[in-house]
Amino acid sequence: MSAFSAYNFRNQKALVRVDFNVPLDEKFVITDDTRMKAAVPTIKKILADGGMVILMSHFGRPKDGPSDKYSLKHLIKHLSELLGGTTVLFANDCTGEQAYLTASMMRPGEVLLLENLRFHPEEEKGDVKFAEKLSKLGDVWVNDAFGTAHRAHASTAVIAQFFPADKKMFGLLMEGEVASAEKVLHSAQKPFVAIIGGAKVSDKILIIENLLDRATDIIIGGGMAYTFMKAEGGKIGNSLCEEDRLETAREILKKAREKNVCIHLPSDSVIADKFSAEAQTSAAPSNNIPDGWMGLDIGANACEQFCNVIKHSKTILWNGPMGVFEMPKFQHGTKAVAVAIAEATQKGAFSLVGGGDSVAAVNQFGFAGKVSYVSTGGGAMLEYFEGKTLPGIAAVQS
Ligand code: AMP
Repeated sequence: MSAFSAYNFRNQKALVRVDFNVPLDEKFVITDDTRMKAAVPTIKKILADGGMVILMSHFGRPKDGPSDKYSLKHLIKHLSELLGGTTVLFANDCTGEQAYLTASMMRPGEVLLLENLRFHPEEEKGDVKFAEKLSKLGDVWVNDAFGTAHRAHASTAVIAQFFPADKKMFGLLMEGEVASAEKVLHSAQKPFVAIIGGAKVSDKILIIENLLDRATDIIIGGGMAYTFMKAEGGKIGNSLCEEDRLETAREILKKAREKNVCIHLPSDSVIADKFSAEAQTSAAPSNNIPDGWMGLDIGANACEQFCNVIKHSKTILWNGPMGVFEMPKFQHGTKAVAVAIAEATQKGAFSLVGGGDSVAAVNQFGFAGKVSYVSTGGGAMLEYFEGKTLPGIAAVQS
């Protein structure tokens, strides 16, 4: 693979796989353009070199071929604005005649957006012929779609075989994602704390198991903490519990003891009489929650206990909220953790927030600029931390 920053794109057609899967409202207005913005530095560098950019992306989950609802044409205007007024050409079929004709006539400094890759079922099937057809559009393949790096699709991985090693590379976004994730997984300064929260133990078992070989401390919060509490003999009322994971939880705790990893469970909880923003609330030890009540956030002692661990750490990984942060009554724990991570970061720790709702929480509370890195790839980051090889990364490195 080539290093993107060192590559000169002059007169080259760069076929760039981006993740433009942004949310739109019913009037096709983009409601969150984070993913588009994230690809801008890569596009700008290629244009600044005197290259041409051909963008390909998936968009939503179209089931029956092309449809207006899932057309990438809705993004043209905003993309042009993000690129400072650069005209964005559009091809209404990513492997249609018009795409090849437009690509063949492009001049340095021009941008072409291809229609939704998933209008062709071959994309998700990882079809080799379809990948080969796509590859013919560009001289160089740049993978900048970290959000789909865990999928072995035609444009994210299979296409790599049609480019020689020096003509395939990560874009700047991918480079940043991979570098931060590797820093945490392979060269973490100790103490290294992993903060794992969210709803389900079953979603996070693999990541916890992988981290048992790397982290000094693992903080477990959110709904999943109550399965651990019950596994230890606690009384958890109506709190979330995965009965079929009690044994797994016990095994994790046992392995942690064997490996000398300190697992921190919330000593107390904010409890509620129903799962509602208007619920009555109270406080209770997390292992003694009264019948009819449920734990929806970590309590004051747990906040202090968790924040203390975070503040003394040199590497911090955060995945998953500490409570039902979407409801104001239950967001204190998640906020407190975000504040502690920001403080530790300011004192020199490296902090990575990755995967789903903790990213939403960090953005919602305005902490995105106060941590070292916020990952754009939910599922991809999770799989990376589970220790899996991501096809979109391996394809570039091969
Ligand atoms: P995940 O996608 O697994 O990271 O889970 C995120 C979701 O977990 C968020 O929607 C939270 O509202 C939810 N959650 C966090 N803590 C709790 C809890 N104690 N009880 C129920 N749901 C929770």
